Amino acid sequence: MNERGLDALVQAALAGQKQIFGSMNDRRGGLCALGVLAQAAGVLDEPIGHRFSVIAAAYDLHGARKCPLSECSRRDPWRMSEAELIVHLNDHHRWDFLTIARKLGPEGGTP
Ligand SMILES: [Zn+2]
Repeated sequence: MNERGLDALVQAALAGQKQIFGSMNDRRGGLCALGVLAQAAGVLDEPIGHRFSVIAAAYDLHGARKCPLSECSRRDPWRMSEAELIVHLNDHHRWDFLTIARKLGPEGGTP
């Protein structure tokens, strides 16, 4: 994830954005981490396929990634696109926006 993605997640956290799990957008103001990125890119209400391609391009989410948590219970192959990993960390591990930004941002140290 590039600097723009990191900034969007940090801004959401500072603004007190309500975080939700299991859905991108609850239509009541709640967003998951990928929903924050979608909103910041202006594609929150676009069809899902278009939304994902815009998000991937805007935030440089392209590589295959493995969940960084050794205790993760996700079954093999454990490899996801970076966008899928953001959803996984949001929904499955309940990482907050700042943690996702810190760990997956341009200076993040996860493999
Ligand atoms: Zn995991």
